[in-house]
Amino acid sequence: MHNTHALEALREDVVRRNPAEPEFHQAVTEVLDTLAPVIARHPEYAEAKLLERICEPERQIIFRVPWVDDQGTVQINRAFRVEYNSALGPYKGGLRFHPSVNLGVVKFLGFEQIFKNALSGLPIGGGKGGADFDPKGRSDNEIMRFCQSFMTELYRHIGEYTDVPAGDIGVGAREVGYLFGQYKRITNRYESGVLTGKGLGWGGARVRKEATGYGAVYFAEEMLATQGRSLEGQQVVVSGSGNVAIYAMEKVHQLGGRVVACSDSSGYVYDPAGIDLELLRQIKEVERGRIGLYAERKRSGTDFVDGGSIWSVPCQVALPCATQNELDESAARQLVQSGVLAVVEGANMPCTPEAVRNFREAGVLFGPGKAANAGGVATSALEMQQNASRDSWSFEYSEQRLRDIMIDIHRSCDETAREYGQPGDYVLGANVTGFCRVADAMLAFGVI
Ligand code: GLU
Repeated sequence: MHNTHALEALREDVVRRNPAEPEFHQAVTEVLDTLAPVIARHPEYAEAKLLERICEPERQIIFRVPWVDDQGTVQINRAFRVEYNSALGPYKGGLRFHPSVNLGVVKFLGFEQIFKNALSGLPIGGGKGGADFDPKGRSDNEIMRFCQSFMTELYRHIGEYTDVPAGDIGVGAREVGYLFGQYKRITNRYESGVLTGKGLGWGGARVRKEATGYGAVYFAEEMLATQGRSLEGQQVVVSGSGNVAIYAMEKVHQLGGRVVACSDSSGYVYDPAGIDLELLRQIKEVERGRIGLYAERKRSGTDFVDGGSIWSVPCQVALPCATQNELDESAARQLVQSGVLAVVEGANMPCTPEAVRNFREAGVLFGPGKAANAGGVATSALEMQQNASRDSWSFEYSEQRLRDIMIDIHRSCDETAREYGQPGDYVLGANVTGFCRVADAMLAFGVI
Protein backbone atom coordinates (compact mmCIF):
# COMPACT_ATOMS: atom_id res chain seq x y z
CA MET A 1 0.00 0.00 0.00
CA HIS A 2 2.75 2.36 1.03
CA ASN A 3 4.59 1.59 -2.23
CA THR A 4 1.56 2.28 -4.37
CA HIS A 5 1.18 5.69 -2.68
CA ALA A 6 4.85 6.49 -3.14
CA LEU A 7 4.70 5.52 -6.82
CA GLU A 8 1.58 7.59 -7.38
CA ALA A 9 3.26 10.57 -5.69
CA LEU A 10 6.27 10.12 -7.97
CA ARG A 11 4.03 9.91 -11.04
CA GLU A 12 2.31 13.15 -10.02
CA ASP A 13 5.67 14.78 -9.48
CA VAL A 14 6.89 13.72 -12.93
CA VAL A 15 3.72 15.13 -14.52
CA ARG A 16 4.05 18.40 -12.59
CA ARG A 17 7.70 18.88 -13.46
CA ASN A 18 7.29 17.97 -17.12
CA PRO A 19 4.14 19.83 -18.17
CA ALA A 20 2.43 19.31 -21.54
CA GLU A 21 4.27 16.10 -22.42
CA PRO A 22 1.41 13.57 -22.62
CA GLU A 23 3.36 10.78 -24.36
CA PHE A 24 6.11 11.01 -21.74
CA HIS A 25 3.56 10.89 -18.91
CA GLN A 26 1.94 7.86 -20.53
CA ALA A 27 5.23 5.96 -20.81
CA VAL A 28 6.26 6.76 -17.22
CA THR A 29 2.83 5.85 -15.85
CA GLU A 30 2.87 2.50 -17.65
CA VAL A 31 6.21 1.58 -16.08
CA LEU A 32 5.49 2.90 -12.57
CA ASP A 33 2.15 1.05 -12.53
CA THR A 34 4.00 -2.27 -12.58
CA LEU A 35 6.79 -1.57 -10.11
CA ALA A 36 5.08 -1.61 -6.68
CA PRO A 37 5.90 -5.31 -6.02
CA VAL A 38 9.54 -4.70 -7.01
CA ILE A 39 9.92 -1.85 -4.54
CA ALA A 40 8.30 -4.03 -1.87
CA ARG A 41 10.99 -6.68 -2.44
CA HIS A 42 13.86 -4.22 -2.83
CA PRO A 43 13.67 -1.42 -0.24
CA GLU A 44 17.26 -0.53 -1.24
CA TYR A 45 15.91 0.79 -4.59
CA ALA A 46 13.57 3.20 -2.82
CA GLU A 47 16.27 4.29 -0.36
CA ALA A 48 18.64 5.14 -3.22
CA LYS A 49 15.81 7.05 -4.97
CA LEU A 50 16.39 4.92 -8.06
CA LEU A 51 12.96 5.46 -9.53
CA GLU A 52 13.23 9.22 -9.16
CA ARG A 53 16.66 9.13 -10.79
CA ILE A 54 15.59 6.88 -13.67
CA CYS A 55 12.70 9.19 -14.53
CA GLU A 56 15.05 12.16 -14.89
CA PRO A 57 17.20 12.15 -18.07
CA GLU A 58 20.93 12.44 -17.44
CA ARG A 59 21.21 15.11 -20.15
CA GLN A 60 18.86 16.82 -22.64
CA ILE A 61 20.15 18.68 -25.67
CA ILE A 62 17.93 20.98 -27.76
CA PHE A 63 19.40 22.66 -30.81
CA ARG A 64 18.59 24.71 -33.89
CA VAL A 65 18.97 23.20 -37.36
CA PRO A 66 19.11 25.88 -40.06
CA TRP A 67 19.23 24.75 -43.70
CA VAL A 68 18.44 26.05 -47.17
CA ASP A 69 15.71 24.41 -49.29
CA ASP A 70 15.76 23.93 -53.07
CA GLN A 71 14.07 27.31 -53.60
CA GLY A 72 16.88 29.04 -51.71
CA THR A 73 14.67 29.74 -48.70
CA VAL A 74 16.16 29.42 -45.22
CA GLN A 75 14.36 26.84 -43.07
CA ILE A 76 14.70 26.36 -39.32
CA ASN A 77 13.96 23.15 -37.44
CA ARG A 78 14.25 22.20 -33.80
CA ALA A 79 16.22 19.10 -32.88
CA PHE A 80 16.72 17.04 -29.73
CA ARG A 81 18.96 14.42 -28.22
CA VAL A 82 17.91 13.08 -24.85
CA GLU A 83 20.75 11.11 -23.22
CA TYR A 84 18.57 9.33 -20.77
CA ASN A 85 20.50 6.66 -18.91
CA SER A 86 24.02 5.30 -19.27
CA ALA A 87 24.11 2.75 -16.44
CA LEU A 88 24.52 -0.21 -18.79
CA GLY A 89 26.51 1.33 -21.63
CA PRO A 90 26.73 4.32 -23.96
CA TYR A 91 23.41 6.02 -24.69
CA LYS A 92 21.81 4.15 -27.58
CA GLY A 93 18.68 4.88 -29.56
CA GLY A 94 17.37 6.18 -32.84
CA LEU A 95 16.75 9.54 -34.42
CA ARG A 96 13.25 10.39 -35.61
CA PHE A 97 12.55 12.99 -38.31
CA HIS A 98 8.82 13.75 -38.24
CA PRO A 99 6.71 16.90 -37.73
CA SER A 100 5.22 15.40 -34.52
CA VAL A 101 8.64 15.33 -32.81
CA ASN A 102 8.93 17.49 -29.68
CA LEU A 103 10.76 17.16 -26.39
CA GLY A 104 7.99 15.11 -24.76
CA VAL A 105 7.92 12.62 -27.63
CA VAL A 106 11.70 12.21 -27.55
CA LYS A 107 11.59 11.75 -23.76
CA PHE A 108 8.93 9.07 -24.01
CA LEU A 109 10.97 7.24 -26.64
CA GLY A 110 14.19 7.64 -24.65
CA PHE A 111 12.52 6.39 -21.47
CA GLU A 112 11.21 3.27 -23.25
CA GLN A 113 14.64 2.76 -24.77
CA ILE A 114 16.31 2.40 -21.34
CA PHE A 115 14.28 -0.70 -20.46
CA LYS A 116 14.26 -2.09 -24.00
CA ASN A 117 18.02 -1.89 -24.25
CA ALA A 118 18.43 -3.46 -20.81
CA LEU A 119 16.16 -6.33 -21.92
CA SER A 120 18.39 -6.99 -24.91
CA GLY A 121 21.06 -8.15 -22.45
CA LEU A 122 23.68 -6.15 -24.37
CA PRO A 123 25.81 -3.29 -22.96
CA ILE A 124 23.79 -0.29 -24.14
CA GLY A 125 22.24 2.61 -22.24
CA GLY A 126 19.13 4.49 -23.39
CA GLY A 127 18.74 7.63 -25.47
CA LYS A 128 16.71 9.08 -28.32
CA GLY A 129 16.77 12.05 -30.64
CA GLY A 130 15.22 13.64 -33.65
CA ALA A 131 13.84 16.76 -35.21
CA ASP A 132 10.48 18.24 -36.19
CA PHE A 133 11.66 18.11 -39.82
CA ASP A 134 9.17 16.66 -42.31
CA PRO A 135 11.03 14.66 -44.97
CA LYS A 136 7.82 14.12 -46.97
CA GLY A 137 8.19 15.59 -50.46
CA ARG A 138 11.77 16.79 -49.84
CA SER A 139 14.40 16.20 -52.50
CA ASP A 140 17.49 14.12 -51.91
CA ASN A 141 19.59 17.27 -51.79
CA GLU A 142 17.34 18.84 -49.18
CA ILE A 143 17.57 15.70 -47.04
CA MET A 144 21.37 15.82 -47.36
CA ARG A 145 21.62 19.48 -46.38
CA PHE A 146 19.31 18.94 -43.43
CA CYS A 147 21.32 15.92 -42.22
CA GLN A 148 24.60 17.82 -42.58
CA SER A 149 23.32 20.78 -40.58
CA PHE A 150 21.85 18.45 -37.94
CA MET A 151 25.19 16.65 -37.52
CA THR A 152 27.15 19.92 -37.44
CA GLU A 153 25.72 20.38 -33.94
CA LEU A 154 25.14 16.77 -32.86
CA TYR A 155 28.69 15.55 -33.53
CA ARG A 156 30.06 17.18 -30.36
CA HIS A 157 27.68 15.18 -28.17
CA ILE A 158 28.11 11.68 -29.61
CA GLY A 159 30.85 9.04 -29.93
CA GLU A 160 31.26 5.29 -29.84
CA TYR A 161 31.80 5.33 -26.05
CA THR A 162 29.35 8.16 -25.35
CA ASP A 163 26.19 8.09 -27.42
CA VAL A 164 25.40 6.06 -30.53
CA PRO A 165 22.38 7.17 -32.58
CA ALA A 166 20.65 5.15 -35.31
CA GLY A 167 17.49 5.41 -37.40
CA ASP A 168 13.82 5.58 -36.46
CA ILE A 169 10.80 6.99 -38.32
CA GLY A 170 12.05 9.16 -41.23
CA VAL A 171 15.68 8.09 -40.76
CA GLY A 172 16.95 5.12 -42.79
CA ALA A 173 20.22 4.13 -44.46
CA ARG A 174 20.16 7.21 -46.73
CA GLU A 175 19.96 9.63 -43.79
CA VAL A 176 22.47 7.64 -41.70
CA GLY A 177 24.83 7.89 -44.70
CA TYR A 178 24.61 11.68 -44.82
CA LEU A 179 24.93 11.90 -41.03
CA PHE A 180 27.95 9.59 -40.93
CA GLY A 181 29.63 11.40 -43.83
CA GLN A 182 29.34 14.73 -42.04
CA TYR A 183 30.54 13.27 -38.71
CA LYS A 184 33.58 11.76 -40.46
CA ARG A 185 34.37 15.02 -42.19
CA ILE A 186 34.09 17.21 -39.09
CA THR A 187 36.02 14.91 -36.77
CA ASN A 188 38.50 13.51 -39.30
CA ARG A 189 37.91 10.07 -37.77
CA TYR A 190 36.49 6.95 -39.41
CA GLU A 191 34.66 6.06 -36.22
CA SER A 192 32.27 3.39 -37.51
CA GLY A 193 30.80 2.70 -34.07
CA VAL A 194 29.37 6.21 -33.69
CA LEU A 195 26.19 5.43 -35.63
CA THR A 196 24.35 2.19 -36.42
CA GLY A 197 22.07 1.31 -39.29
CA LYS A 198 24.90 2.06 -41.70
CA GLY A 199 25.02 0.73 -45.27
CA LEU A 200 26.55 -2.73 -45.71
CA GLY A 201 29.47 -1.40 -47.76
CA TRP A 202 30.62 1.07 -45.09
CA GLY A 203 30.43 -0.55 -41.68
CA GLY A 204 26.81 -1.64 -41.55
CA ALA A 205 25.68 -5.01 -40.22
CA ARG A 206 23.74 -7.73 -41.97
CA VAL A 207 20.19 -8.21 -40.65
CA ARG A 208 20.11 -4.72 -39.04
CA LYS A 209 17.57 -3.57 -41.62
CA GLU A 210 15.38 -6.62 -41.07
CA ALA A 211 15.95 -6.90 -37.33
CA THR A 212 13.07 -4.97 -35.73
CA GLY A 213 10.42 -6.62 -37.89
CA TYR A 214 11.94 -10.10 -37.77
CA GLY A 215 12.47 -9.80 -34.02
CA ALA A 216 8.85 -8.81 -33.36
CA VAL A 217 7.67 -11.85 -35.30
CA TYR A 218 10.06 -14.17 -33.43
CA PHE A 219 8.64 -12.72 -30.22
CA ALA A 220 5.07 -13.36 -31.45
CA GLU A 221 6.02 -16.93 -32.32
CA GLU A 222 7.40 -17.47 -28.78
CA MET A 223 4.25 -16.04 -27.20
CA LEU A 224 1.99 -18.23 -29.33
CA ALA A 225 4.12 -21.28 -28.49
CA THR A 226 3.24 -20.87 -24.79
CA GLN A 227 -0.32 -21.73 -25.86
CA GLY A 228 0.73 -24.53 -28.16
CA ARG A 229 0.11 -22.39 -31.26
CA SER A 230 2.23 -20.91 -34.04
CA LEU A 231 1.96 -18.40 -36.89
CA GLU A 232 1.42 -21.16 -39.42
CA GLY A 233 -1.88 -20.60 -41.19
CA GLN A 234 -2.78 -17.50 -39.16
CA GLN A 235 -4.31 -14.38 -40.69
CA VAL A 236 -2.16 -11.38 -39.73
CA VAL A 237 -2.62 -7.61 -39.97
CA VAL A 238 0.44 -5.34 -39.87
CA SER A 239 -0.03 -1.59 -39.64
CA GLY A 240 2.54 0.65 -41.28
CA SER A 241 4.62 0.01 -44.39
CA GLY A 242 8.01 1.30 -43.29
CA ASN A 243 11.11 -0.61 -42.36
CA VAL A 244 9.62 -2.38 -39.32
CA ALA A 245 6.37 -3.36 -41.05
CA ILE A 246 7.96 -4.63 -44.28
CA TYR A 247 10.32 -7.05 -42.55
CA ALA A 248 7.68 -8.15 -40.05
CA MET A 249 5.52 -9.11 -43.04
CA GLU A 250 8.42 -10.91 -44.70
CA LYS A 251 9.06 -13.03 -41.60
CA VAL A 252 5.35 -13.80 -41.10
CA HIS A 253 5.22 -15.11 -44.67
CA GLN A 254 8.38 -17.16 -44.13
CA LEU A 255 6.80 -18.73 -41.05
CA GLY A 256 3.60 -19.68 -42.87
CA GLY A 257 1.25 -16.87 -41.78
CA ARG A 258 -0.59 -14.62 -44.21
CA VAL A 259 -0.51 -10.82 -43.92
CA VAL A 260 -3.73 -9.51 -45.47
CA ALA A 261 -3.47 -5.79 -44.73
CA CYS A 262 -0.94 -3.01 -44.19
CA SER A 263 -1.15 0.78 -44.13
CA ASP A 264 0.43 4.21 -44.26
CA SER A 265 -0.80 7.57 -43.01
CA SER A 266 -3.20 7.84 -45.99
CA GLY A 267 -5.14 4.60 -45.35
CA TYR A 268 -4.79 0.84 -45.65
CA VAL A 269 -4.76 -1.84 -48.32
CA TYR A 270 -6.50 -5.19 -47.97
CA ASP A 271 -5.21 -8.05 -50.07
CA PRO A 272 -6.82 -11.39 -49.13
CA ALA A 273 -4.25 -13.32 -51.17
CA GLY A 274 -1.44 -11.97 -48.93
CA ILE A 275 0.49 -8.72 -49.32
CA ASP A 276 2.87 -8.81 -52.29
CA LEU A 277 6.07 -7.59 -50.65
CA GLU A 278 7.99 -6.99 -53.83
CA LEU A 279 5.34 -4.58 -55.08
CA LEU A 280 5.03 -2.92 -51.68
CA ARG A 281 8.78 -2.40 -51.46
CA GLN A 282 8.90 -0.94 -54.95
CA ILE A 283 6.22 1.60 -54.00
CA LYS A 284 7.35 2.47 -50.45
CA GLU A 285 11.15 2.07 -50.58
CA VAL A 286 12.05 2.84 -54.18
CA GLU A 287 9.36 5.32 -55.27
CA ARG A 288 8.58 6.60 -51.74
CA GLY A 289 4.94 6.75 -52.88
CA ARG A 290 1.53 6.37 -51.25
CA ILE A 291 0.11 2.95 -50.41
CA GLY A 292 -2.96 3.54 -52.61
CA LEU A 293 -0.68 2.76 -55.57
CA TYR A 294 -0.59 -0.85 -54.38
CA ALA A 295 -4.29 -1.36 -55.10
CA GLU A 296 -4.01 0.50 -58.42
CA ARG A 297 -1.30 -1.86 -59.63
CA LYS A 298 -2.49 -5.06 -58.04
CA ARG A 299 -4.92 -7.74 -59.19
CA SER A 300 -8.62 -7.47 -58.50
CA GLY A 301 -9.77 -8.37 -55.01
CA THR A 302 -7.41 -5.81 -53.49
CA ASP A 303 -8.91 -2.75 -51.85
CA PHE A 304 -7.47 0.57 -50.78
CA VAL A 305 -9.47 2.12 -47.95
CA ASP A 306 -8.78 5.83 -47.88
CA GLY A 307 -8.40 7.04 -44.30
CA GLY A 308 -9.92 3.85 -42.83
CA SER A 309 -8.81 2.03 -39.68
CA ILE A 310 -6.78 -1.06 -40.47
CA TRP A 311 -7.89 -2.62 -37.18
CA SER A 312 -11.37 -3.24 -38.61
CA VAL A 313 -9.78 -6.07 -40.65
CA PRO A 314 -10.30 -9.34 -38.73
CA CYS A 315 -7.15 -11.25 -37.83
CA GLN A 316 -5.66 -13.73 -35.37
CA VAL A 317 -2.42 -11.81 -34.94
CA ALA A 318 -2.10 -8.01 -35.00
CA LEU A 319 1.26 -6.30 -35.35
CA PRO A 320 1.02 -2.53 -34.89
CA CYS A 321 4.19 -1.29 -36.60
CA ALA A 322 3.34 2.34 -37.42
CA THR A 323 3.54 4.83 -34.54
CA GLN A 324 2.53 5.72 -30.98
CA ASN A 325 -1.12 5.49 -29.95
CA GLU A 326 -2.27 4.26 -33.35
CA LEU A 327 -4.42 1.52 -31.79
CA ASP A 328 -7.07 2.86 -29.40
CA GLU A 329 -9.80 1.34 -27.28
CA SER A 330 -12.39 1.01 -30.03
CA ALA A 331 -9.84 -0.60 -32.34
CA ALA A 332 -8.92 -2.99 -29.52
CA ARG A 333 -12.59 -3.92 -29.05
CA GLN A 334 -12.94 -4.65 -32.74
CA LEU A 335 -9.86 -6.85 -32.68
CA VAL A 336 -11.07 -8.74 -29.60
CA GLN A 337 -14.45 -9.28 -31.25
CA SER A 338 -12.83 -10.59 -34.40
CA GLY A 339 -11.07 -13.23 -32.26
CA VAL A 340 -7.51 -11.88 -32.15
CA LEU A 341 -5.14 -14.22 -30.26
CA ALA A 342 -2.04 -12.03 -29.99
CA VAL A 343 -1.12 -8.36 -30.33
CA VAL A 344 2.58 -7.62 -30.63
CA GLU A 345 3.96 -4.08 -30.73
CA GLY A 346 6.50 -3.58 -33.53
CA ALA A 347 6.31 0.20 -33.06
CA ASN A 348 7.00 2.09 -29.83
CA MET A 349 3.85 2.35 -27.66
CA PRO A 350 1.37 1.94 -30.55
CA CYS A 351 -1.42 0.75 -28.21
CA THR A 352 -3.13 3.22 -25.89
CA PRO A 353 -3.40 2.20 -22.21
CA GLU A 354 -7.14 1.58 -22.68
CA ALA A 355 -6.43 -0.71 -25.64
CA VAL A 356 -3.91 -2.68 -23.57
CA ARG A 357 -6.44 -3.01 -20.74
CA ASN A 358 -8.99 -4.43 -23.20
CA PHE A 359 -6.52 -7.03 -24.47
CA ARG A 360 -5.57 -8.09 -20.98
CA GLU A 361 -9.17 -8.38 -19.83
CA ALA A 362 -10.01 -10.47 -22.89
CA GLY A 363 -7.06 -12.81 -22.27
CA VAL A 364 -5.33 -11.79 -25.53
CA LEU A 365 -1.55 -12.32 -25.55
CA PHE A 366 0.02 -8.86 -25.50
CA GLY A 367 3.69 -8.22 -26.32
CA PRO A 368 4.80 -4.69 -25.31
CA GLY A 369 7.13 -2.86 -27.69
CA LYS A 370 10.01 -2.58 -25.28
CA ALA A 371 10.32 -6.37 -25.39
CA ALA A 372 8.88 -7.23 -28.79
CA ASN A 373 10.66 -4.61 -30.89
CA ALA A 374 14.02 -4.83 -29.10
CA GLY A 375 15.50 -6.81 -32.01
CA GLY A 376 16.36 -3.61 -33.87
CA VAL A 377 18.44 -2.03 -31.17
CA ALA A 378 19.90 -5.41 -30.19
CA THR A 379 21.19 -5.84 -33.74
CA SER A 380 22.54 -2.28 -33.54
CA ALA A 381 24.57 -3.47 -30.55
CA LEU A 382 25.79 -6.36 -32.71
CA GLU A 383 26.75 -3.79 -35.36
CA MET A 384 28.79 -1.97 -32.67
CA GLN A 385 30.49 -5.27 -31.79
CA GLN A 386 31.41 -5.88 -35.42
CA ASN A 387 32.70 -2.32 -35.80
CA ALA A 388 34.80 -2.59 -32.64
CA SER A 389 36.43 -5.79 -33.86
CA ARG A 390 36.58 -4.62 -37.52
CA ASP A 391 34.62 -7.71 -38.45
CA SER A 392 31.57 -8.49 -40.53
CA TRP A 393 29.32 -11.46 -39.82
CA SER A 394 27.28 -13.59 -42.25
CA PHE A 395 23.52 -13.17 -42.64
CA GLU A 396 22.87 -16.63 -41.19
CA TYR A 397 25.00 -16.06 -38.09
CA SER A 398 23.54 -12.57 -37.50
CA GLU A 399 19.99 -13.85 -37.84
CA GLN A 400 20.69 -16.69 -35.43
CA ARG A 401 22.06 -14.19 -32.89
CA LEU A 402 18.92 -12.06 -33.29
CA ARG A 403 16.65 -15.06 -32.86
CA ASP A 404 18.52 -16.20 -29.73
CA ILE A 405 18.25 -12.69 -28.27
CA MET A 406 14.48 -12.55 -28.90
CA ILE A 407 13.98 -16.00 -27.37
CA ASP A 408 16.01 -14.87 -24.36
CA ILE A 409 13.98 -11.66 -23.96
CA HIS A 410 10.76 -13.65 -24.14
CA ARG A 411 12.02 -16.14 -21.57
CA SER A 412 13.17 -13.41 -19.15
CA CYS A 413 9.82 -11.59 -19.35
CA ASP A 414 7.90 -14.84 -18.95
CA GLU A 415 9.98 -15.95 -15.96
CA THR A 416 9.72 -12.59 -14.22
CA ALA A 417 5.95 -12.52 -14.70
CA ARG A 418 5.70 -15.98 -13.10
CA GLU A 419 8.06 -15.01 -10.29
CA TYR A 420 5.77 -12.09 -9.47
CA GLY A 421 2.65 -14.25 -9.62
CA GLN A 422 1.32 -12.87 -12.93
CA PRO A 423 2.02 -15.55 -15.55
CA GLY A 424 1.50 -14.32 -19.11
CA ASP A 425 1.79 -10.65 -18.12
CA TYR A 426 4.52 -9.50 -20.51
CA VAL A 427 4.04 -5.85 -19.54
CA LEU A 428 5.03 -6.59 -15.97
CA GLY A 429 7.70 -9.04 -17.12
CA ALA A 430 9.35 -6.52 -19.45
CA ASN A 431 9.17 -3.53 -17.12
CA VAL A 432 10.40 -5.37 -14.05
CA THR A 433 13.22 -7.23 -15.80
CA GLY A 434 14.47 -4.10 -17.59
CA PHE A 435 14.15 -1.92 -14.50
CA CYS A 436 16.00 -4.32 -12.18
CA ARG A 437 18.96 -4.61 -14.56
CA VAL A 438 19.36 -0.83 -14.74
CA ALA A 439 18.64 -0.34 -11.04
CA ASP A 440 21.26 -2.88 -9.94
CA ALA A 441 23.95 -1.17 -12.02
CA MET A 442 22.97 2.26 -10.69
CA LEU A 443 23.06 0.94 -7.14
CA ALA A 444 26.60 -0.35 -7.71
CA PHE A 445 27.73 3.08 -8.97
CA GLY A 446 26.54 4.98 -5.88
CA VAL A 447 24.74 8.30 -6.06
CA ILE A 448 25.77 9.71 -9.44
N1 GLU B 1 14.75 3.25 -33.34
C1 GLU B 1 14.89 1.88 -32.97
C2 GLU B 1 14.18 1.62 -31.65
O1 GLU B 1 13.16 2.22 -31.39
C3 GLU B 1 16.34 1.39 -33.02
C4 GLU B 1 17.32 2.16 -32.21
C5 GLU B 1 18.78 1.75 -32.44
O2 GLU B 1 19.05 0.87 -33.24
O3 GLU B 1 19.63 2.36 -31.79
O4 GLU B 1 14.55 0.80 -30.85
